[in-house]
Amino acid sequence: MDVTMLGTGSPMAPERNATGLLVTAPGCAPLLIDTCGGFELPRQLARIGQPINQLQNVIVTHRHMDHAGGMPALFIASIPLNLYALPDTHMGIRDLMNACFPEWPIHPEVERIPIEPGTPYRIGDFAVEFYSADHRVPTVAVRVQHNGRTLGFSADGVPNEGMVACARDADLFICDALCAARDGAEWATRARSLMHPVAREAAEMAVAANARSLALTHLARYANADNLLAEAREVFSGPVVVLDDGMRLSV
Ligand SMILES: [Zn+2]
Ligand SMILES: [Zn+2]
Repeated sequence: MDVTMLGTGSPMAPERNATGLLVTAPGCAPLLIDTCGGFELPRQLARIGQPINQLQNVIVTHRHMDHAGGMPALFIASIPLNLYALPDTHMGIRDLMNACFPEWPIHPEVERIPIEPGTPYRIGDFAVEFYSADHRVPTVAVRVQHNGRTLGFSADGVPNEGMVACARDADLFICDALCAARDGAEWATRARSLMHPVAREAAEMAVAANARSLALTHLARYANADNLLAEAREVFSGPVVVLDDGMRLSV
């Protein structure tokens, strides 16, 4: 399975789009996890050669705009969709669409599937499980398995057991890290108040989970990628990468 990053930044990051990633495998329907922050979603999909009208399965981890904001673009594309999200996230997506495009007809084959952490799902050819993250609004971390390979993805949230379980023995753990603790106490404190981990905490979760490799994403405007990398490598001995938009990783 492959993962292509559509966005790797926080909302205010000047050179990164907001969170979105596309999981693909030969012969499988692609799985979109989070939708960037808005109409950069169709541009990013075009850039990586993914026709938007061939997307069907979408997971949204929580209602924050930097994850759910691309949903209006998908609705405006007028395509059948299986949309997997927590009930709170579904509510946020409905409110967003009602606020911005109340007149737009939603495609009749849009299925809004409420997810429950702890329940296994089959989404296309991927086996998917959700874990409760500890964030400012109801949020899930996502575990995707295919052909014996495992991807763990934590979109937003301070360290908790769910995030570690999501990454348990994963071949790749993609974790948000707003900045590095060494970017400065002021920024580390800000990350905590926004309920995001710093690079050290993401790496500690990767160690606790026995993940094989770690990739950091969701960088803040004040983050220094070199600092994130150095800090994570002090804690986690496996391969570590700081992600950029457009980067594609094999899992
Ligand atoms: Zn968030
Ligand atoms: Zn976020």
